[in-house]
Amino acid sequence: MLKVLKFGGSSMADANQFEKIRQIVKSDPSRRVVVVSAPGRRSKDDHKVTDLLYLCHAHLKYGVSCEHIFALIRERYEGIKRDCGLDTDLASDFDKLWEKMQKGISQDELVSRGEYFAARLMADYLGFDFLDAELWLKFKFDGSIDQEASYEALQRAVNGRCVVIPGFYGAMGDGRIRTLTRGGSDVTGALAAAALDAAVYENWTDVSGILMADPRIVKDPQPISRVTFSELRELSYIGAQVLHEGTVFPVREKGIPLNIRNTNEPDHPGTMIMETIDDSDDDSGSFITGIAGKKGYTVISISKTGMSSTPGVFRQILEIFEKHEINVEYAPSGIDILSLVVANAQIAPCLYSVLGELEKTVRPDHIKVLDDMAIVAAVGRKMAYRLGTSGKIFAKLGESGVNIRMITQGPEELNIIVGVEGKDFEQAIRVLYDSFVKEEESNV
Ligand code: ASP
Repeated sequence: MLKVLKFGGSSMADANQFEKIRQIVKSDPSRRVVVVSAPGRRSKDDHKVTDLLYLCHAHLKYGVSCEHIFALIRERYEGIKRDCGLDTDLASDFDKLWEKMQKGISQDELVSRGEYFAARLMADYLGFDFLDAELWLKFKFDGSIDQEASYEALQRAVNGRCVVIPGFYGAMGDGRIRTLTRGGSDVTGALAAAALDAAVYENWTDVSGILMADPRIVKDPQPISRVTFSELRELSYIGAQVLHEGTVFPVREKGIPLNIRNTNEPDHPGTMIMETIDDSDDDSGSFITGIAGKKGYTVISISKTGMSSTPGVFRQILEIFEKHEINVEYAPSGIDILSLVVANAQIAPCLYSVLGELEKTVRPDHIKVLDDMAIVAAVGRKMAYRLGTSGKIFAKLGESGVNIRMITQGPEELNIIVGVEGKDFEQAIRVLYDSFVKEEESNV
């Protein structure tokens, strides 16, 4: 059995964290492939190495000296090396990098060094082989990942060995280094897990799993123990920030479960994300998996008598939005009324052109625009089997004085989405959490 592990920036921040990683990896012989991020913050006022590298590049671009920032970066690695008692030769690589920076270096190549140096140190610390990501993670020239070629190259390169791989970057066909978008080491780990048919992809971070609600809104929300990929997609789409968005696809495609774990609390099982979950043995906990939401929506409601029985009106309306490249997020409809929920940022620059065109093309009886809307969603695979869920949600929100402006439920009954005014956003999330998670818990 093989497990692929990815450790994020906070897990890589210093020698103390390196030791936690070593214990985690050594406690299970199937943990043989490790992907690492660059060192992150050690405290609130510290800096992520990757941010410092971007800063160096900006200095180089404008011809301002970045010697002091480079020295800080170098010292981060030298410090970890010293404190871990390693003899990894980083000096010559750092010198070469500095020389290259004077001659001209691409931003991608420079920022990728954060992960490169981190992986070199971690490989020595674990006694694993260092496997450079540029040798297997291949990008096409259009910037997409060449999955087939990458998988094949990784399988050949690993060949049963225990390896440490730097996350976040790979190479293009001409050998030039290219990075993923920020946070991309999650994706490197997922690709490695998929390529090697891992039994599980463990994503080690600094929280004990995905939380049931945003901790900035709800105090000490519980972690979710099990969630399906579809539920996770709903939660992330509606605002829960969990993983880099390219992470799920490679593992889901191969049916590999993804386990979010906490490096600082290694005995906690974290969150297990799977394609399907058998809940028959589980009568504990809430039937809601998580609660998420997002602010900053506009709802445009178009009413026209007879609209529901006239073919083509919805198409005409949607075409206008498409022409302006506005993504319609939700489209609840009633008899002779269609409401379109769109992001403020997208509609604001062209609101009046859109309204003008709607008037001209559709000749509605009435158009109503509601800005500053927020969307709040309760997501849960078990909701479909529970009678009265929506009734309870609406009642609880009503009792607490939150005015519901819109209701929609996905056809798969995985979620119930309510639109509330921006000012009620936090309150709505807290009410849902308190009534569905806390109350349910105390009833168990
Ligand atoms: N170090 C990179 C970043 O800060 C990539 C990562 O950590 O996943 O975005």
